[in-house]
Amino acid sequence: MSDTILVLNAGSSSIKFQLFGLEPSGRLARQLKGQVEGVGGQNPRLVVADASDRPVFQEACPPARTADLEAAQELLGSWLVGHLGAVPVAVGHRVVHGGPDFAMPMLVDDALIERLAKFAPLAPLHQPNNLAPIRSIRARRPDLPQVACFDTAFHRGHPEIADRFAIPDSLHQEGVRRYGFHGLSYEYVASRLPEMAPAMAAGRVVALHLGSGCSACALVDGRSVDSTMGFTALDGLPMGTRPGQLDPGVVLYLMQKGQDADAIQHLLYHDCGLKGLSGISNDVRELLTSGQPGAGLALDYFAYRTGQAIAALGASMGGIDGIVFTAGIGENSAPMREKIATRCAWLGLVLDPERNATHGPRITGPASRIPAFVIPTDEEQMIARHTLATLQATKGQPG
Ligand code: AMP
Repeated sequence: MSDTILVLNAGSSSIKFQLFGLEPSGRLARQLKGQVEGVGGQNPRLVVADASDRPVFQEACPPARTADLEAAQELLGSWLVGHLGAVPVAVGHRVVHGGPDFAMPMLVDDALIERLAKFAPLAPLHQPNNLAPIRSIRARRPDLPQVACFDTAFHRGHPEIADRFAIPDSLHQEGVRRYGFHGLSYEYVASRLPEMAPAMAAGRVVALHLGSGCSACALVDGRSVDSTMGFTALDGLPMGTRPGQLDPGVVLYLMQKGQDADAIQHLLYHDCGLKGLSGISNDVRELLTSGQPGAGLALDYFAYRTGQAIAALGASMGGIDGIVFTAGIGENSAPMREKIATRCAWLGLVLDPERNATHGPRITGPASRIPAFVIPTDEEQMIARHTLATLQATKGQPG
């Protein structure tokens, strides 16, 4: 059996994994993907599929063995070792926040874990979950190399002006600044662009990561120069349950009404966005078929704000040579891409209805002044690549 790299992406109620085989050519080939879902709930399941998305294993888990992330990870670890009969050469982790300093993935040690834990208040729903499996694997297998790959790292090359808020410098020095997220997704998209659209890849591109979290990124020659996400993953575009850009006066108002930080945090992360605006659902599929006025308003707002963000990032770059759609909504929803493109008609963007309906990859034709593509994202592949590269840089070739 070939050497493998395990990629873990631990969220609040699930722990997702992918296993990549390291082929003699150096290529990383996905072997398995799966997740323990429903962690902490009544009906947890372990679901595993092969590289072609064919189910290979599905089993209900005893709730007592998945009461929290640590327990779920132990269960997943035993399954992997039992079914594969081997441990991976390294584990790569998605870590949402790398703070102002980390522009690259880092090999995990105790000092790094402590530094990353300090960023938990900046990503309260993600960072503690991301760090939980890192800690427990380190406690059990201190010899197993682990690599932390940050969603913020790809944005660290922004010009200073893009990452500043207009606040006193002392706050900026304390870390109150714009970081940008979804970096692993944008880095993957940027890595695919040269083969898919070489002229566009070398130019000014707005990439739209539209999933349950949403953001837009300005890419110049494949590098991020600006992003709609800021200090936390709340800013920028409206999302499934987060509002996106919001006047900070709204938060002051809620505080003055007596709401505490936990209540406001819950509102902003769970009850806003498409869900809050529609009063129906955070899921675009449900809203598209709902027919209720709130659903239409939420989808129109989503397209309106996304159109505004495209224009703003165009201003950051001095023009736009192409647009890329990615993630759950961006990859799968032709009607939402159409709605957003309509907001960009002034740019000369015209989608080809047939190409759009079949999800591209190119979704514009000769009638469009600029091209638009759908590029399915693959954050786990990016993490596996980074993990391998970090391992090779620190230890020489594995195996
Ligand atoms: P992600 O976070 O990238 O997995 O995206 C999840 C979101 O993508 C879901 O909440 C849905 O709103 C959206 N989504 C997934 N598939 C579709 C689809 N076929 N049409 C519209 N939206 C979709």
